[in-house]
Amino acid sequence: MLSFTARPNTANAGRVDVRPAWTTPEVVSGVDALLEQWSASLPADRATAIVIKPNLNNDLVALSGNCTDLRVLDALCANLRRRGYTDITIADGSNVGIARRGISTFRRLRVDSLKIRYGVRTVDLNTDTGTPVVLHNDAHPEVANTILNAGFLISVPKVKTHAEAQLSCAMKNWVGICRGQDKRHMHYDLARNIFAINEVVQPDLILVDGLVGMEGNGPGDGEPFRFGQLAMSDDAFVNDAVIAHLVGLPWREVPYLQHAFNAGLLTTDIVERIAAELPVLRPIKRPPARTRLAMMAEARSLEWLKRTVRPIVQKPEVTEIAYKLKIVQDVYFLEDDTLQVVGRDAEKCGTCARCVDFCPTGLTLADIGVKTTLPDCAQCLYCWWVCPKDAIVLEGEERGMARQIQRYKKDIEQL
Ligand code: SF4
Ligand code: SF4
Repeated sequence: MLSFTARPNTANAGRVDVRPAWTTPEVVSGVDALLEQWSASLPADRATAIVIKPNLNNDLVALSGNCTDLRVLDALCANLRRRGYTDITIADGSNVGIARRGISTFRRLRVDSLKIRYGVRTVDLNTDTGTPVVLHNDAHPEVANTILNAGFLISVPKVKTHAEAQLSCAMKNWVGICRGQDKRHMHYDLARNIFAINEVVQPDLILVDGLVGMEGNGPGDGEPFRFGQLAMSDDAFVNDAVIAHLVGLPWREVPYLQHAFNAGLLTTDIVERIAAELPVLRPIKRPPARTRLAMMAEARSLEWLKRTVRPIVQKPEVTEIAYKLKIVQDVYFLEDDTLQVVGRDAEKCGTCARCVDFCPTGLTLADIGVKTTLPDCAQCLYCWWVCPKDAIVLEGEERGMARQIQRYKKDIEQL
């Protein structure tokens, strides 16, 4: 285990603890161990309204490295329930493209299964009520009131590259606390506004899902990589400086960390000690330079044009062309898949147990494909995504998932 403390012997110590984890039992024991280390930070009142803010910005399966892993959320909810907390909400607002199309990432990523497994609530922050905040360059998004009214906030970010912000971890995850289409405002000056939204409200605790990361053309079209780490902190600025170092990204290459440094929340002493005291665990492949067309697509001065042509460019066949031209990273489909795990083909199965390693609900090999309904099985399909022998039997229609299967199945099998 690795540990870094930015400001020893002060009340605002800025500590980050990092533990390796990969399989479901390791994730469960890792989350339990981290929460035990940080138990003094958890609320004393078991009726406190706890809000968990994962990164569900897109509908890509979490094993692509894009979204928070269901194994981490499951282990976190289980631990909080065992500790006696009674009021737990999982809240996030997906990106503007997903939100505009009315797609539920809670449903597509099977996060809604946690409602039945642990009696938690889910809240789509995009449709929440909000409170306006003033950021930079005329950005004035509304922050979702579920976040502002929380008694205890837990951020559960991914570790991934971001074509514009370079890195997405705890600080970038906080863009998702802004409701609805207001998230576009953040791009008026993205790095500065990522820093600014982290000054408006801070998480009480951060649990980094660094199991499967995304590198290259993140956050929506990169490649998954095995990072195999969990981390916990209560300081998003130090946390992200540490994570950037662990993936070999110099903090100066992450513009929002530069703003944290300019504001004195990171200091020369802190960043030099991170580099001296912690190893680079797994160098990440940087995002490619953004094309001129991609930058034009984000240009604020052309927003009127985007609104005018939206009915045309929103069609999947048109977005597919924009994807091929590297203007956009995401192609969305309106219809949810109906895929279900219904069995395991014993003749094809090589008993490698990868499906067991990735099953969020901790099913044994004998039960995978046999117990197929909640609360035992979340129908997350992780067992199918990782199986190299095509031994998990599915029923239903791929629909919009066909594209991500084509894009990510082989990569995920090889994790
Ligand atoms: S991952 Fe596939 S091959 Fe390996 S044990 Fe599971 S079903 Fe069998
Ligand atoms: S058996 Fe497969 S589909 Fe069911 S919860 Fe486990 S990994 Fe997900």
